[in-house]
Parts: sequence; structure tokens; C-alpha cells
Amino acid sequence: MSKLLKVKTPQHMHSLEFKQLSAILNAQNQALQSVVNGEGLIDALNNICLMLESCFSQQKRYVALALYNEGHLIHHCHPSLSSKDHDLHRYFLDNGQPFEQLRFTSNNTPNWNDTHHVLEAQAIWSQPIFCSRSEFLGRMDVFTARDETPQDIHKALLAHFAQFIAVTVNKDKDQRQQLELNNQLVAANERMEAITHLIPDLMFVLKEDGTIEDLFGGNRSLLTLAIPEFLGKMHQDVLPVGVSSKVQLAVERALEFNQIQIIHYQLNLPIGTTDFEGRIIPAEQDQETMKRRILYMARDVTEQNKDKAEIERLAYFDPLTELANRRLLLEKLDEKISLCRNNRMHGGLIFADLDDFKKINDSLGHSIGDEFLIMIGIRLQQALPAHCTLARIGGDEFVVLLDHMDASREAIQSLATQLAQKILATFDKAFFYNRIEYRIGCSTGICIFDGIQATTADQVMQQADMCMYQAKKRGGQQMIIYDDTITDFMAQRFQIESEIQKGLKNHAFVALFQPQISPQGEVIAAEALIRWHRDGQTIAEPAEFIPIAENSGLINQLQRVVLEQSCQLLNQIDVLLGHRNFTISINISANQFRTQLGQMLFDTLIHFGLEPRRFKLEITESVLLERSEVVTEQVEVIKSMGFNLSIDDFGMGYSSLAYLHDLPVGELKIDKAFVDFGHKQKQKLAIIQSIAKMAHELDLDLVIEGIETSSQKEMLNDLSYTAMQGFYFHKPLSSAEFLHLIQNQNT
Ligand code: C2E
Ligand code: MG
Ligand code: MG
Repeated sequence: MSKLLKVKTPQHMHSLEFKQLSAILNAQNQALQSVVNGEGLIDALNNICLMLESCFSQQKRYVALALYNEGHLIHHCHPSLSSKDHDLHRYFLDNGQPFEQLRFTSNNTPNWNDTHHVLEAQAIWSQPIFCSRSEFLGRMDVFTARDETPQDIHKALLAHFAQFIAVTVNKDKDQRQQLELNNQLVAANERMEAITHLIPDLMFVLKEDGTIEDLFGGNRSLLTLAIPEFLGKMHQDVLPVGVSSKVQLAVERALEFNQIQIIHYQLNLPIGTTDFEGRIIPAEQDQETMKRRILYMARDVTEQNKDKAEIERLAYFDPLTELANRRLLLEKLDEKISLCRNNRMHGGLIFADLDDFKKINDSLGHSIGDEFLIMIGIRLQQALPAHCTLARIGGDEFVVLLDHMDASREAIQSLATQLAQKILATFDKAFFYNRIEYRIGCSTGICIFDGIQATTADQVMQQADMCMYQAKKRGGQQMIIYDDTITDFMAQRFQIESEIQKGLKNHAFVALFQPQISPQGEVIAAEALIRWHRDGQTIAEPAEFIPIAENSGLINQLQRVVLEQSCQLLNQIDVLLGHRNFTISINISANQFRTQLGQMLFDTLIHFGLEPRRFKLEITESVLLERSEVVTEQVEVIKSMGFNLSIDDFGMGYSSLAYLHDLPVGELKIDKAFVDFGHKQKQKLAIIQSIAKMAHELDLDLVIEGIETSSQKEMLNDLSYTAMQGFYFHKPLSSAEFLHLIQNQNT
């Protein structure tokens, strides 16, 4: 309870003279006035002291008062005792303890001390001042020149004025707080203003109906009007219909859900087409209309959007070729696979890998290699239909995802095959760099998927990749389509491949030599045939391992073994015969023509001091019929070096005899199937006869192989031929056996 409430209404006021009363009121008025005017508390308190003194009329009673804050003296005033400032300061410092009610001290009371004496008073009336919250604010002391006790009127006056001081002090405090608050508000406003000038966004304050009440923002280039012209207009008046309806919808939602709403839109501004992000949030209520305001922030996100698009581009496209990258391809493939599964359709994917691209990189450097990749990307793009996804998924690997789907596997397979052929055809034309021609090949694998067998993008890719690998192993520049046998086949191949590699290291491969016999019965030549001493015991026939060696590229190493052993034998034979007319035939696989075969052969011969004319390279018709630029070129190289070419297994082939005169060959070897006369004897004999006639006319050597019996030999005796070969004469022999044979023949 407030201490002030204990003070009764001053009953003794009436005993004051009218003059005195009006003086009190007058002074009280003045004090109030000065407080209200904000003139300062000090003046007001001084006035109060003087006023009280005047209420005490003629008597020498001086009033002093002191204010404390938590026990610390903060102010004291005593206008009539200004000369005693120092003493009063001490006095108030020593007497800052709160006390409950009016106290009386005189030089007759025991607690009268030196301090009191200094003030030259005979008695002191001390009145506590409390604020409305019973908080001790200070004290008011009346120093009297006589030793007198306060009468009721004095007590009432002191109590009244203590209350008045409390009101004055509180009022002053309030006012100062108000002022401080005001200043803070002004400062905050200024700061806010500065900030809104700094931020690049525009900030609209809207009414619920869309009227623009206020607008801040530093980026004036985003505004089509001056700020004041916006005020009072509706956003519908200043924004295009499409945009303002978006804004209005967001405003309504923000109000309904009391949540921030984000919208995106574009405006055509004098600075150009600008992308905006609008953030709309409900703000405070308008006290008059009781409707809420809306804050609407518009931010220019043009650059940000451009960056985002660029990041997206980088995330989904290969920066070198600007084709789709692996990520985009896999996403699209995933989508396609599930589409196929859900609609019982088939889709297709082609995996293409450049052959020997490493050579370009190694010889010309990676940056030129990159130029080639760009060129290849462009060629592929031109060759393929626009709606296919063409991706470069790394290094020299390109992948095509067909856009088309089909219920029929055959239909999609035929489409994929056509596209793969187009891809291969793009590599027929040479690439040029610095006016030098470069040939690049490509191997492709095709996977047809239905989303049921291969269910993930990875599986489809892996299958296509496996086929591509097969195509590469078969010599490249070809395509292979995936089927289920591929995986088993691959596993088996890998096993044998690694065994061949081991065998090469352990010298497990040897060449046998089968003699070729002239019509006069002389051994005039030999065919080198490879054998593999597998596991040190079993001897493997070429049919078991040659195709695998061809696929893995190991064939070149095997060929070198055969060639070296043939050279050794030839040198030994030359010594025995004393002339250099003996020849050895060597079987060459088709895909060796895609390598630098001629050079390899030539280098080996040079090493053994032998001429190319001593060798016949046996090739199949298919090699010569392929007519690809690479093979044709290599055939020419080999011919020009002086090697002889022989067509092995002649007659088993693919086309008529009519093309023979076009081929750069010097010998035909009739396949043993024609010599096996058991069945259709007459026809076979007729074929051999016409081949022999033609060979004679074209001045080609003719070797008949697979002669097993004397009757076979007899039947062919009348033909014009160069040599015969077969078990009837000799099985393939080791070098030692062969030398022994020559030696015997010579003696
Ligand atoms: P090819 O070039 O047609 O070789 C003749 C094959 O017939 C040889 O089988 C030989 O042993 C066999 N032969 C010879 N005379 C007779 C006969 O009277 N009756 C029967 N039934 N067969 C006879 P081989 O050695 O198993 O070679 C098979 C094939 O392997 C060769 O057919 C050749 O295409 C390939 N080949 C052998 N050695 C090499 C090689 O060093 N490199 C390459 N690329 N292929 C080779
Ligand atoms: Mg042969
Ligand atoms: Mg043959």
C-alpha cells in the first residue's frame, strides 16, 4: 500500500490564509508548468523548496531536498541555503537510508550531532518521499532557526509537498523516457531508411485490397514511376494483369494462412526483361480499419536465374561437346525404362566407343584430342535424328538413347541397327588436323530393353557396354547387339584370354609346318600352323583359341611367334637348299588388317634378313570383299612391300569368280571341302576344274589343300596346279621334322 495514501487530506489547510493558499497554488502551478514544459526537474524542485518556505511565511525555516536512486544520492537542492552546499551534500550523503515517516530532530534530542550543528539549525523536520510504488525517492528537510516541533499544518504541508515532489519526479522520469523512446524511434527510423536504400529489393506496403501505402528500396532502376507516383495506386494499376493477379492471389493466401507466399514473374523494364521473386507476408493491423497490411518484397533475380540455368547446364551437359552428359542420359534412360515397362514397349540404347582414340591423344596431345571429340560430337549430331538423346559420358564414349519406343522388339532393333550403322558411317570419312588425315574407328554395342529383363539404367548401359567391348575385340568399326548369351560367352572368353597371355609368356605356342608338294613331288613350300601346348600336355587346335585371340587383340602376339619361327626355319632351309626360292605361307586374321600389319611383318623380316617375297599371307575372301578404306589401304601397303597374298579356303566364299581379276592376290587355295569327293563328286570336281582354269588364265598360283588319299590326288592330277597339301603327303610337322624332310629330299 502506498505510503502516500496514509496521509489524510490536509484538514488544516483551511487555517491557511487565503494569500498563503493562493501563493501555494500559484507556486504549485508554476512548478507543474515547468515540468510540463520540460524545462527540467532541477528548476521545478527549486521552486518547490521556495514555495514550501513561503508557506511557512515569516518564520526562518529553510527547505532542502535530496533524491536517491537505490541508496545513491543523485540530486539535492536548497535554493535558500546555497552557501551551505558542501555541508548539505555531506548531510544528505550520510542520510540516504529510507525511513517511514516524518522525523523530528533538535539540539535537545540525543541524536543531534555535529553535522546538524554545522547547518546552524536548532531543529530539523525530515519528511520521506515515496513514489507511487512505495519506492523511497528521497527526503525533504526543513531546517528551523528555532527549536520547534512541527505543527499539524506543517506535517500536512510536508506530506502534501512530498506527494507533489513524487508526482513531479515521476512526471519528469516519464517525460525523459518518452523523449528517449522518441529519439530511439527517430534513430531506428533513420536507420531503417538507410537500410532500405542499401538493399537492392523493393518493399511495398499494401492494403488488403492492393493499394500501395508505402514503398521503399534503393534500386530505382526497377521502378517505372517515381516513388510518390506509386503511393495510393493499386498494384493492379502498375503491374501487367498476369503479374498482378499472381500478386493478388498470393496476398489472399498470405492473409488466409498467415504465411509467407513466394511468387516468380517477369517484367519488361527499360533495363531489359527482368526476373523477379516476390515475397508476400501479412503485417500489422491498421488500427482504424482493423484490416491487415501486407508487406510485399520484390527482388530482381535475373542474374541468379542465369546462374541457376548455367549451373543446370553444367550439371546436365558435357562442357566440351555440349552434348548431354552421363547424368542427363541416366535420368532419361531411367524414365524410358519405366515407360517401356508400364506400356509393354521396347526401347533402344547404343553405346559407341572410339577405337584407338588413345593414339590421337598420345601423339597430338589432349587439347587436340579434345578438338577431335568436338568434331566427332558434331558429326554424330548431324547423323542422328534430332529427338534422340546423344550423350558423351566420358573420355571417348558416346551413347545414343532412342526416343522411339515400339511394342515389337524387332522393330526397335532394326531402328537401333540403322542408327548404329549411321554412327559407324560417320567414321568412314577421315578427320583432318593441320591438313593431315586421321582415321578414327568406332565400336558400337546395342541394347534393346523392355524394362523387365534389365530394370535399371545401369544394367542397360552395362549390357550395351559389353556388346561394344565385343565389337572392339572383333576388330572395331562394327556393332554387336546384346543377347543373353553374351554374359556367359564373355566369362569364358576372359578365362581363355588370360590363359593365352600366360602361354605367350611361357613360350607355349609353336608353329608347325605342313609341306606343300609340287606336281613333280617336291616340297616347294610350307604352311605355318600354330599350336598351343596348353597345360604342358594337351595340344590345343587353332579353332579353340584363334577366335578368342582375334577378339582380344592377342592375335598379333601369336602371329609374331609364328612369323619368327617361320623366319628361323626359312633361314635353315635356305642353307640346306642353297637357294632362296622356298616360301612359307602364314595365316593372317581379318582384323589384323586394321593394325599396322605390314610394318610389323616387315620389321620382323628385316631382323632375320629375309625378303617379303618369301612369304605368302593367307587371307580369307571376306577380308578382300570388305572394301573398307582401312583394310584396302593395308592390303596395298602389304602388296607394295612385296608380300604375296593368297586366298585361303577359296570357294567357300561369298561371291562369284568374276571379281578375281580385281583382287591384288597371287594365289588361290582351294578349300578341302571340295576335295572331299564322297558326296556330289562330279559337281565338286567341275568347280575345282573351273577354278583351276580361271587361275591359270589370270596367272594365279593354285594350291589344293586337304588331300587325304591317293585317289583324291589321282583325280586332280590332270589339273594345272602349283602345289598340293594334305595328310596324304604330310601332317603338319615341327621345325626339326620339317628340316629333316628337306634334308632327306635333297640327298
Ligand atoms: P587353314 O589355313 O585352312 O589350315 C589348314 C588346316 O587344315 C589346318 O588345320 C591343317 O592341319 C588342316 N589340314 C591339312 N591337311 C589336311 C587334311 O588332309 N585333312 C584335313 N582334314 N585337314 C587338313 P589347323 O592347323 O587346325 O588350322 C585350322 C585353321 O586355323 C587354319 O585353317 C587357319 O585358318 C587357322 N590358323 C592356323 N594357324 C594360324 C595362325 O598362325 N594364324 C592365324 N591367323 N590362323 C591360323
Ligand atoms: Mg591356311
Ligand atoms: Mg585353308
